Parts: sequence; C-alpha cells; structure tokens
Amino acid sequence: MTDHTALIERRQRLLGRSYRLFYQQPLYPVRGEGVWLYEADGRRYLDAYNNVVSVGHCHPRVVEAICRQASVLNTHTRYLHDGILEYAERLLALFPERLNNLTLTCSGSEANDLALRVAREVTGNRIALVTRWAYHGTTSSIAELSPALGVGVGDQVRLLDAPDSYRAPGQWLRQLRQQLDQLAAEGLRPAALMMDGLFSSDGVFSPPAAEIQQAVNWVRQAGGLYIADEVQSGFARTGEAFWGFSRYQVEPDLVTLGKPMGNGHPVAGMVARADLLDQFGARQRYFNTFGGNPVSCAAALAVLDVIETEHLQVNARIQGQRLQRRLSELASQHVVIGDIRGAGLFYGVELVQDRESLAPATDLASRVVNGMRDAGVLISATGPDANILKIRPPLVFSSEHVELLSDTLDQVLTGLGV
Ligand code: PMP
Repeated sequence: MTDHTALIERRQRLLGRSYRLFYQQPLYPVRGEGVWLYEADGRRYLDAYNNVVSVGHCHPRVVEAICRQASVLNTHTRYLHDGILEYAERLLALFPERLNNLTLTCSGSEANDLALRVAREVTGNRIALVTRWAYHGTTSSIAELSPALGVGVGDQVRLLDAPDSYRAPGQWLRQLRQQLDQLAAEGLRPAALMMDGLFSSDGVFSPPAAEIQQAVNWVRQAGGLYIADEVQSGFARTGEAFWGFSRYQVEPDLVTLGKPMGNGHPVAGMVARADLLDQFGARQRYFNTFGGNPVSCAAALAVLDVIETEHLQVNARIQGQRLQRRLSELASQHVVIGDIRGAGLFYGVELVQDRESLAPATDLASRVVNGMRDAGVLISATGPDANILKIRPPLVFSSEHVELLSDTLDQVLTGLGV
C-alpha cells in the first residue's frame, strides 16, 4: 500500500483541521469510471458508497453535456436562458402537480437553508423539528438543524428520535406529539418538520407510510410545513419511487434536492408549491450567483436522461432486492448483524455486540469499513454510534457488483472472527 503520509501532512497544513479523510489508509483515486475508482498504480475499488455520481463515475453523457455547454455559454439566472426552463419542465413533471416551482442552488445545504427561510416566512413561525441525529447541511441556520454535526442545536429547534424500527418502534411519534403539545403550551407553533426521506445520518430508517403521514398531519395542524429533504433519497435511489417522499404517500410543501442531481457537478435545488413561493417572493428575493447556470442545468438534464434511458430506477429496485437477500443470508451466518434496513440501493446494516443487549458494535463497524476498503470495496458507517454499515452504491450497480460486495463483506466479517 502506498504511503501517503507526506500528502496528508501537506493537506492538513494547507487546508486546516476541519477536513476529515475517510479510512485509516486514505484513498487516493486518480480516475473514476462507472462503479469503479482507480488509484495511480491501477488498483481499483468498487464504489459502494457514492450517491453523488449516481449514474456512474464520469458518465460519458453527462461529461459531454457539461463540455458542450461550457464551450458555448456559462452565465447566471439574470439573463434569459432556455436550459434552465427545459430542466425545470423535465424535473417538475416528476413531481405531484402542486409542487410546481423550482429554485436552483449549488448545494443541498443552500437548498435546505432556503426551504427553512420560506417556511419561516410563510408560516410566521420559527421553530423547526428534526430528528435527533439528522444532517441537513452546513450553513449556520441549517447547522442548527443538524445535530449530527456536533455543534449543538439552535434554540429554535426541537428534536425527536428517528423512526427507529429496530430499537424503539413508534417512539418518535409519541415524542413528536409531546413536542407539539409542549410548544402549544408555550404559545409557540412550528414552522416546519424537516425529514430526510431515508433518515440516513440517523441510521437509515424507512418507517411505515402511516407513521410519516401521522407526523405530517400533526405538524400541519399545528401550523407548520413538511420539508422533504431528498438530498439522499431522491432521483430514484429507493427504486420503488423516484422520490423518497412518494413511498410515504404524502405530499410535501417543500422539497430539497442535491447530491446526485448533477452526478458530481454542483447543482441542487428546492421544489416548492407556487402559492408558497409567491408569498415568499412578494417579500424576499433570492439570487444565487452560480445556482441554475447553463452548465449545471445541462449536467442535471443529462442525469435525468441517463436515469430514464438506462432504467436506473428499475435497476435500483432489482439490485436492491438482490442486495437485501444477500445481506439477510449474511445475517444468518454472522450474529453481529442485528438488523438490515433500507430501500433500493441504500442499505444500513446494523452491527451489535449481541442480539439481546443490542449494544452498538462501534469499533467493529470501523474495522469492517476499513477491512472492506483494504479488500477493495468502499462503504462507510453511520448513526449516532457509527455502528451501522452504510451501503449506497451508484445506481448503475449490477448483479455482479452486488455479489462482489456481499462476498467481500462475508470474508471481512469472517476474517475478523465474527
Ligand atoms: N441533506 C442531507 C440529507 C444530506 O445528506 C446532505 C449532505 N450529506 C445535505 C443535506 C447537504 O448537502 P450539501 O453537502 O450538498 O450541502
């Protein structure tokens, strides 16, 4: 294995301490193609942890769209351009009819920041409700809604457990009811409930539709909106539906998008009900220098084309089922696997010290993640105790890749004696 000590030191000196690297032996890829990342010596890694390049690393169609538009024109949204309109038409056609306005940003954090601003402006309320280990982004206002960042939540934020089907089914709804009653007792009302469609940082949960519907109904009755954070669960990730929220059969008021939207090109956005955006736009304006530029729109349009023409939603469903089957087989051989949950090509594999106490196997998860990396397969761990293996490959994952991932996980667990 190549020694990257000098490079790591240089990086820390130049970029400072707030950046973190993955893996005990950090990866140094120089090229990507499809589901593979390559290091300079030609060693390749199966990327099973990338929902940004969700149509595959360097997909030729996306690369071509970016190059073509970059060689003609790149400017901002204060000039007329039909690229953004073509994209908006294509994207909005994938949403329920009432969700009919698109605002483009450069990151999921900006999209959530804007959605929160809209919710606060139109409801006149300040309080935001999020799950206990949520991650919604990096801006100051959204960092306050992102307990997983470790910066502490803001005083306008109320927490509830994630819908944990493994340890405490239904508990989150009781907490939500209590939080709303408590707010009412204090004379306060919520502006919004913001939820990640797959509760990724909380540990990957996929609750029954009725639970989400109940939560949203209660929040709406209390005067708040439902912001669906689709940064992780959007763009066909779950296989069953194009959007994570569709699986719960409840229509959000605001939806935020990011990560896979441009397959690595920075494009993100917010989809809103026009009536809400009208109220917001009458009092505030929004301009984002790079958001919605023609190159980003070309990249995003190409991504939609690829998802459609390569039938990636169907692929996510089929390969997701295969993955779930293989993971269940592994659970019957390795008792450290306490639970498997997820949808499409997004699975969490919860490692526990034993199946009675359910004590989180945090160190083991770290050893598994690093062992997988050494064996050439990239995954990560998530959840408050970082004991849940997070498997989230590009949507172009094939049966052969599912087999390689599962076989490698089997070998790594066996090698660790568990
Ligand atoms: N929401 C969720 C659910 C996310 O996972 C992330 C990024 N990890 C964000 C928002 C923020 O997106 P970005 O990093 O593009 O700002």
